[in-house]
Amino acid sequence: MIMDAMLNNLLRRLHSESKNSIGYPVSRDFDYSALAPFLEVAINNIGDPFLEGTYHLETHAMEREVLDFYARVFRAEPNQYWGYVTNGGSESNLYGLYLARELYPKGMVYYSESTHYSVQKNIHLLNMPSIAIRSQENGEIDYDDLYQTILLNRQQPVIMLINVGTTMTEAIDDLNRIREILRKLAIHHFYIHVDGALAGAYAAWLDPKPTFDFADGVDSIAISGHKFIGSPFPCGVVLTKKQHRDRIARSISYINNLDTTISGSRNGHAPLFLWYTLSQLGEAGMQQRLKHSQRMATYLLTQLRLMGIQAWKNEGAITVVFPAPSKIIRDKWQLATDNGQSHVICMPHVSYKQLDAFLADMKAVPVTKSQEIAVSV
Ligand SMILES: *Cc1c(COP(=O)(O)O)cnc(C)c1O
Repeated sequence: MIMDAMLNNLLRRLHSESKNSIGYPVSRDFDYSALAPFLEVAINNIGDPFLEGTYHLETHAMEREVLDFYARVFRAEPNQYWGYVTNGGSESNLYGLYLARELYPKGMVYYSESTHYSVQKNIHLLNMPSIAIRSQENGEIDYDDLYQTILLNRQQPVIMLINVGTTMTEAIDDLNRIREILRKLAIHHFYIHVDGALAGAYAAWLDPKPTFDFADGVDSIAISGHKFIGSPFPCGVVLTKKQHRDRIARSISYINNLDTTISGSRNGHAPLFLWYTLSQLGEAGMQQRLKHSQRMATYLLTQLRLMGIQAWKNEGAITVVFPAPSKIIRDKWQLATDNGQSHVICMPHVSYKQLDAFLADMKAVPVTKSQEIAVSV
């Protein structure tokens, strides 16, 4: 059978590529075989997860449990939060910015230049005015530049997009310092959205714990589901205050009563898969996975430095950054590269064995200055 052969080849290729995948933040330590029977059902979570619709092939109850899990972790006020399972971190960010724009149509969006590329596109889609702020070497926003820039635009409400784990270096913007800036400039109208696509899913268990959640005063948080939690397909979560969602639910009630999500039809398997992992692991299991990732990152960092490579990482991060190695290594290990820097992200499935194989390759093909320079941005 030609189709059988094609499927077998594809599966073999995916499994084989999967072995060397240490450059992108995608967890692979999952086993969803128990959920296979659910592939026989046409599930669709259309509509608001907190409301009953006329389509009954849905997993809204599991979706609410996923939201409830992270609402607790993010210290949202019980019954005062809202959210839904999205198609990924990008949609979650789009949603947060959308709520911000509805609250402050004249607001100015500020984000660091280390921010994920999808955010600029979202801002463009929403037609919002925005200013990119300089980043520090480690990928964290430059607070002086932020202060000076807001100072020049004091008449406008501030829509602040903060990173909890930037894409390249897993830097975390310091919300305390940003709030201090807003206080100094007497900005009373502001909205804070957290892009926690990668690190938001585990930031609550970092020690020291960053300031980034609802009790710290943020308005919405975006995380990806397929990154740290792990899922065979992309998905994400967005959480916000119920009051923000009520505003947009009202404003478009003419068209369709409580059409509160961006997509109409929504993936009904994603909430089921996320629920499955979160229920099995609980907070303790998630914390353990983070500890493992951090151990792997520290090991990799130490070994690279012993080899004389100028590797570094942000405190608590599971992303190890180093000068881009040769193209052979970047291809084999699927290393994302930007500005002459590559990174390995020690997701929970990454093992000593895998890192040792990578380190052996790094030893065999050392970095040369010319290779560093040859890497395009
Ligand atoms: C991955 C990522 C995104 C985009 O999330 P998707 O789930 O890929 O849509 C946004 N911001 C950051 C910091 C990311 O790492």
